[in-house]
Amino acid sequence: MTPYRSDFAHLHIIPTYKGGDPAPKGYLEWHEWARVQLRAGLRQQECGKCCKWKFPQELTAEKIRVATKRSFAIRPVCFECFVSGESRSVLGLERNYAQMGEA
Ligand SMILES: [Zn+2]
Repeated sequence: MTPYRSDFAHLHIIPTYKGGDPAPKGYLEWHEWARVQLRAGLRQQECGKCCKWKFPQELTAEKIRVATKRSFAIRPVCFECFVSGESRSVLGLERNYAQMGEA
């Protein structure tokens, strides 16, 4: 059976991704890309600044120490946070916890 032409009217064409490809910009593109990354065995890590879960391609080599409920954790920093520098409050919090720990 030949599908009706209207079946294709709103198809969003998403490119094919491979594991390790850089993250695309569009929302649907990102989700398709993320599915491929998971299948390729890549796993997300929590950004130490924005606490969003990111794939390795979305993270910088930068690492920060963040306070967790009981102690500290070393977390990577995503590109968005690295560029925006929106980290002061988190770093301030970390400093407060560190001082409490040393006291
Ligand atoms: Zn981040």
